[in-house]
Amino acid sequence: QRTPLIAGNWKLNKTIAEAEEFIQALLPRVFAADGVDIGICPPFTSLQAMVDSARGSAVRVYAQNMHQAESGAYTGEVSAAMLSELEVQGVVLGHSERREYFGETDKALALKVPAALEAGLEPILCVGETEEERERGDTERKLRHQIQEDLAKVPEDQLAQVVIAYEPIWAIGTGLTATPEQAQEACAFVRALVAQRSEEAAAQVRVLYGGSMKPDNAAELIALPDVDGGLVGGASLDPESFAAIVEAA
Ligand code: 13P
Repeated sequence: QRTPLIAGNWKLNKTIAEAEEFIQALLPRVFAADGVDIGICPPFTSLQAMVDSARGSAVRVYAQNMHQAESGAYTGEVSAAMLSELEVQGVVLGHSERREYFGETDKALALKVPAALEAGLEPILCVGETEEERERGDTERKLRHQIQEDLAKVPEDQLAQVVIAYEPIWAIGTGLTATPEQAQEACAFVRALVAQRSEEAAAQVRVLYGGSMKPDNAAELIALPDVDGGLVGGASLDPESFAAIVEAA
């Protein structure tokens, strides 16, 4: 039995003051949330404030990226240990925006995922195909490549601790949500890829759907057999709509 996770990826949004306003509005709305894990993924600058404000509540805090090295000459980067020192729950890794705009590679992700686990962080690894790849019939090939490469160095007994977010790139920020059939098919395929390494891990691993998830389509998507929650972008910026998605789970 997998507990669903609803995580809000804020991307490059919200100052500390705006983040505080959000969390104060969200907390009373999710106070009684039961049987669902709730995460917010603020920018680095708001992590500490959100950990402090969410302490004792059901809301967990995740970073949006980290570097694979423990320390060194990597200007502008933060390490897994620096994040776990803040008491964040985990970290989003390999979001398609990082892959597209910031040169995030599968080679780096193969190091980032185990580095996060080693530091006690829960990685949310993002995978997904472009519109062109889907039209060419290359969705499964892309997912297979990303999962195999990015999880290659994760020991079998730790695979279940990774959260995998299937985010079709054509559905991100476009208002174009995958159909339930498309989401189920891709998430089941992701789980089958994990099963090739470990059947036990595949039964436990949480696979999320991401891409234009909103209050009015969340319940249907989260109810799918192989969808264990959502990674929510735009709709996670407003406490009302984020809380409505949590309630749908
Ligand atoms: P939207 O929900 O805005 O489409 O973004 C999805 C996403 O990229 C979450 O990581």
